[in-house]
Amino acid sequence: MANQPKSHGRLAIRPSLKPRELMVDRPELAGAWQAKVITLFPEAFPGVLGLSLTGRALQEGLWSLETIDLRQFGVGKHKNVDDTPTGGGAGMVMKPDVVAAAFDAAAENTPPDRQDWPLVYVSPRGKPYDQATAERYSRASGMTILCGRFEGVDQRVLEHYQVEEISIGDYILTGGEIAAQALIDASVRLIPRVLGNTESAMEETFTHGLLEHPQYTRPTEWNGRTVPDILLSGHHANIAKWRSAQSEKLTKERRPDLWRAYLNDRDPDGDQEL
Ligand code: SAH
Repeated sequence: MANQPKSHGRLAIRPSLKPRELMVDRPELAGAWQAKVITLFPEAFPGVLGLSLTGRALQEGLWSLETIDLRQFGVGKHKNVDDTPTGGGAGMVMKPDVVAAAFDAAAENTPPDRQDWPLVYVSPRGKPYDQATAERYSRASGMTILCGRFEGVDQRVLEHYQVEEISIGDYILTGGEIAAQALIDASVRLIPRVLGNTESAMEETFTHGLLEHPQYTRPTEWNGRTVPDILLSGHHANIAKWRSAQSEKLTKERRPDLWRAYLNDRDPDGDQEL
């Protein structure tokens, strides 16, 4: 069936499994977090999501990935998905009727509640992606992501479907596929059991509004540089204190915006010396 979306992820694990082989149809994974990606380049998936922790979790059925090829909804003999910008200007704009048909296909078998199933267009005009948004997505049942190409998408279809626009940074990518993978990666690693060690997610940069402290490993001396003595002391309380002081120092130096938000969170009235 041409209109059938493609499913990724499987329950059976073969040692020879390659990332692209995650893309075969698999039994419905009841309850697992689901990502549906609307794209002109389904072959870009699972991409890096098929590797390492996210890839293993995909194989184990902790989440699933489905690509919906936008081209199949194209119009006319050439399956056109884009047209010239009304009012003139460079490039092409993705057609509202084509994108709407893809949204409708994605909405089959998904809850209508946007809290439970966000509908996102990745776009440089969107709200900046952050850890709180990744946490919100990871708590949903799944999400649908539209990857743009060309100059972007006709505004009316974004408004009609009340699409949430999310940016992964202040720069322009050629298409939304890399952005979609970034969104999914940051969300999937927050799903229980995806990260082997749940504590590592609790302590990471941004979780408490601060950047992470510097990390070290063996050898204790490398290229004439030693690791800070305190980390070798075995004194856990002092190590924790040192790490949190380092976090604060780094955040203050590198991200004054995060530092101000952190201070404000701890002391909203600003009447305390911090
Ligand atoms: N003309 C548009 C940019 C289009 S770039 C503008 O000036 O706003 C083509 C596609 O790449 C976009 O539709 C979007 O899906 C994706 N994209 C580009 N940069 C992005 C970013 N920083 N974050 C998320 N998606 C992005």
